[in-house]
Parts: sequence; C-alpha cells; structure tokens
Amino acid sequence: MKATAAVCRVQGEPLSIEAIDVREPQHAEVRVQIEFCAICHSDITYAEGGWGGQVPAIYGHEASGVVESVGIGVTDLNVGDRVVVGLLRSCGGCYHCVRNEDHLCRGQFPDDTPFRDDNGLPIVRGLNTGAFASATVVHRSQVALIPDDVPSDAASLLACGVLTGYGSVITTADMAEGATVAVIGLGGVGLSALQAAVDRKASRLIAVDILDSKLEVARRYGADILVNARTENPVLAAREATGGIGPDYVFVTAGSAPAIEQGLAMLRRGGTIVMVGMPPTGMFTELEISNVSDAGQTILGSKMGSGSFARDLPLLIERFRAGALDLASMVSNVYPIEEINEAIAEVNAGSVVRNVIEMPTAQ
Ligand SMILES: [Zn+2]
Ligand SMILES: [Zn+2]
Repeated sequence: MKATAAVCRVQGEPLSIEAIDVREPQHAEVRVQIEFCAICHSDITYAEGGWGGQVPAIYGHEASGVVESVGIGVTDLNVGDRVVVGLLRSCGGCYHCVRNEDHLCRGQFPDDTPFRDDNGLPIVRGLNTGAFASATVVHRSQVALIPDDVPSDAASLLACGVLTGYGSVITTADMAEGATVAVIGLGGVGLSALQAAVDRKASRLIAVDILDSKLEVARRYGADILVNARTENPVLAAREATGGIGPDYVFVTAGSAPAIEQGLAMLRRGGTIVMVGMPPTGMFTELEISNVSDAGQTILGSKMGSGSFARDLPLLIERFRAGALDLASMVSNVYPIEEINEAIAEVNAGSVVRNVIEMPTAQ
C-alpha cells in the first residue's frame, strides 16, 4: 500500500516527507494504519546519529493506529482493531522471554523492512517500528489493543514514554507505598514516573528539571517540591525535603551524566536509584564504589520500564480509566507530518512534554 513517511536520508539533517510503499504483513506480522505517533527522544538521538544505524530510515516508535491487515498466524487481532504500536518486540521463547523479561528479548526476527521508496529501494524500519509513516508493518507482539474510551492521540504515549516511566516505578523498582521519591527529568517519561509515584502514595515527591514550565506540570500531577536545577542545588533541596536523609528512591529519566551524579548524591543510605533515561552511546559517569557499598544503595537499570505490552498495557489502561494516569495533559501539541521537523525542534528545545504527529490516511 502507499503511505506518507518522514524519512531520514542523512543523520543530523531534517527528515524528508516522501511517498513510500509498505508491503503486506508476513507470518506473525500486522500492518497498521498509523493515526498518531509521538516524538520520543530516542527518535531524535537516532536521527542525529547518536546511536549509529543505517539510513535511509523511518523512525517513530510511540504510536497508535488501526489494524489494516494481519499476516498468517495472527489469530487474535481483527482488521479495524484500534491498537498501540511500539518497539518492544518479544519472541516468547528466548532465554529472556521465558523469564518474563520481554523487554530484553534476544529472539530472531526476519530482517525484512516493509518500506520501499519511490525508486523501489529499501528504507530501514527504525527502532523496529517505523511509525513516522501513515502505515507500517510490525511483529504481533508490538501491538496491543486499546479500548474505545482511550483517545488515539493520548494512547500513542502508552507505547513508550508512559510504559517506560510508569513501569520504572511499578515494575523495575516495585516502589514501596508511602516512600519518598525524587524524579529527575520531567519529559513524558519523567511525568509518567511521577504519576506512578503518586499512584503508589509517595509521602514526599520531589520533581527536578531545568524548565519552570515542566515543573509546573509536575506540580499539577502532585509533586510537593519543585527544583529548578539551573537555579537551585537539587541535592541540597532533596535532602532538605526529606529531613536531611535523602529520598528512598530516585528515578533519573534525563539521559545525562550530571543527572545521574545528582541522583546518586541525593539518594539516602539504603536507597534505590533507577536509571531510566537513555543517553547517547559513549556517555560515562564516575562512581565512588565505596560510597555505594558503604551506603548499602541499590542501582537499577530500567529498560522500557521493564515493560511488556501484553502484561502492562491493560494495567496502564486500567489506571487511565481509574483517573490515576493523566495522558491528555502530556500531549503538548499535535502537528501534521509535514511539520515534523518543527515539532522535533520544539522537543529538542525542551519546551514541550510530548509533541504528537497526526498521520494522513494511507491508501
Ligand atoms: Zn521512546
Ligand atoms: Zn524473546
């Protein structure tokens, strides 16, 4: 089928809007007409070359849409089903999948991109998803049904940012109820972590960012202490907010070394720091080992909130319905695909939580 896509021809340069062809779904695959795709920092890191990868490529991995057709072996989805589409892909049978670690799946999948450009040349399906397009083909495990009462633009956020942030608190850390919490970095992931901490009845909730506009959103979500790291020392502020002890949990969603260092410095003795943000390859931080062992601290890595589409999407939808998860106010702006480069520039400037691209209808 024909579709419109934002194609990365040269990393570091603007995406080009092109007519493409999207092949039919094969075994265990689904072809989805994408309705909305949010811009995640991972898309930008790839588009700027921060993680390498081949071009031309179509990025985009935080999407929602409608099932257009299904391949052989897909028996639990129907044409017309509304779905969330994301990059988490699990084979169900590898070392990790059989241990309920879908997010770490190392299964083998056919490396057969669904995209061809105007000249019939292949375009890489970036992040295994390629959802900056009005249609894509993904593995069955990369889609999850969404009910009619969840709006499609907000639902797209469930695929990555919300799953990652919420999951880092609920699944990776399995945060104890009533704990004191700091969240460093208040993009879509950080604000989702914040909402999960509220859901787990955090007794003190410290929000750290460098933009007052994002701190204001955090306050509306229930943060008690707002710290602008440009004008205030977050370590001192977090200590002060917790009676000099430091937070029980620190969730670092900003993909930066200073944020990790601040998180470790503010964490209480015996506390848990969760590294959620994904910096570009080659970023390091120094760690005084004796500080961590002597203080009995725990360091956790959270890949995609240790998430699983099959297990976690129903839970997130249940929390949305219960009013515990506000998705709508995380959607800052909706842009047509022709304005995707402007939308990316806004995300890069840090001035928005999530910009969402609305796709034209694929034919
Ligand atoms: Zn993402
Ligand atoms: Zn697997």
